[in-house]
Amino acid sequence: MHNDFSRRQFLTRLGIGALAATGAAALAACGKGGGAAPTACTDPTGGSKPQRDALKYVDNAADQAKRCDLCVLWVPGDGCGTCKIFNNTAVAPAGTCDSFAKKT
Ligand code: SF4
Repeated sequence: MHNDFSRRQFLTRLGIGALAATGAAALAACGKGGGAAPTACTDPTGGSKPQRDALKYVDNAADQAKRCDLCVLWVPGDGCGTCKIFNNTAVAPAGTCDSFAKKT
């Protein structure tokens, strides 16, 4: 009897933990979790890497006033946006680079 109750408790907690982890991962992937920037905001071809490196692009701006989503070169997207000077490839909303130019 005691073992059945413990097993039920364990399975219930395991299920709740798995649901919480799945939800957090889904929110992070779509950029709506309010936490770290989505990790999928990249250039899969690598074609913009020279520009990204030269302009010191990072996924998480140290200065929140210089985030990509506040930049005139940012184009909003679903989760990620794109950057006009990086061949319109994906950049993180919370990212930044040395060419940041504030939207007016
Ligand atoms: S120019 Fe730099 S700061 Fe502006 S959107 Fe592109 S990567 Fe972000």
